[in-house]
Amino acid sequence: MQISGKKLYLFALLVVLIPFLAVKLAHSISKDSIIAPQEIGQGGIGLLKVRNNSTDTLEILWNKRNISLIPSVDNNTHFAFIGVDLTLKPGRYKLKKTDGVYTETKIISVYKKDYGIRRLKIPKSMEALDKKILDRVRNESRRIQRLFFESDKKPLWKGAWIRPVNGPVVSPFGRRSIINGIERSPHSGVDLKAFKGEPVKATNNGVVVLVEECFFSGLSVIIEHGGGIQSMYFHLSKALIDRGQTVKKGEIIGLSGSSGRVTGPHLHFGIRLDRARVNPIQLIDLSREIGG
Ligand SMILES: [Zn+2]
Repeated sequence: MQISGKKLYLFALLVVLIPFLAVKLAHSISKDSIIAPQEIGQGGIGLLKVRNNSTDTLEILWNKRNISLIPSVDNNTHFAFIGVDLTLKPGRYKLKKTDGVYTETKIISVYKKDYGIRRLKIPKSMEALDKKILDRVRNESRRIQRLFFESDKKPLWKGAWIRPVNGPVVSPFGRRSIINGIERSPHSGVDLKAFKGEPVKATNNGVVVLVEECFFSGLSVIIEHGGGIQSMYFHLSKALIDRGQTVKKGEIIGLSGSSGRVTGPHLHFGIRLDRARVNPIQLIDLSREIGG
């Protein structure tokens, strides 16, 4: 009686375990449950597609950062963007997906990307900043950087991203500037053609986290879109929203202008993706695949 009891117990255990083992096997052989680009250039963005029934416990790590997923309309696919900073060291980076039980790792190569160079000579008097200005610039930059670290993980944005103004790119993303022989930080956004007073639209849904007159970027607006993404609009002539305000995609947030240190009116439009400086035009182009 004792032996058969044990056998019965083992049999019951197997009955319970078999479906579990089968699922495990199916999982381990189902390749490409995550679709990712094999390589991304510096300043570039990768669109990830995750096919998964349950995303409750799903976690995606890219370059040691947690990535937020956005469900598709039919909920079968989840999307995520991963960003490669303009100056991220080229090499092989790990993309890790875990659902609490299974872990899948992919390697994405980051390659060096040359966005061109611009050499400028400006009068020494324009170049030099006095201590007071220098302190102001450092202070502004510190506070803006902090906003990128405070980013809320829950995505507020939805569907495709839109251009804030219709004008073409007049100064490309990523271009390096050498002023009077000294290399400055590369262009972290795109300059879009805009005359003074043109309406500037929010590129996606979010919350306004900064409306401020800054030394270099002039009247500046930053929108937090959640999921580690912020958008920036610089050199405005007027802001039509307040800090803390919720904005919808396409809503007019201000008017373009030439405030700050610029030679003429245009809109500087920038995107941060998990703190990485990435090409905003690529985000708009890639996001068309998500739709909405
Ligand atoms: Zn610019």
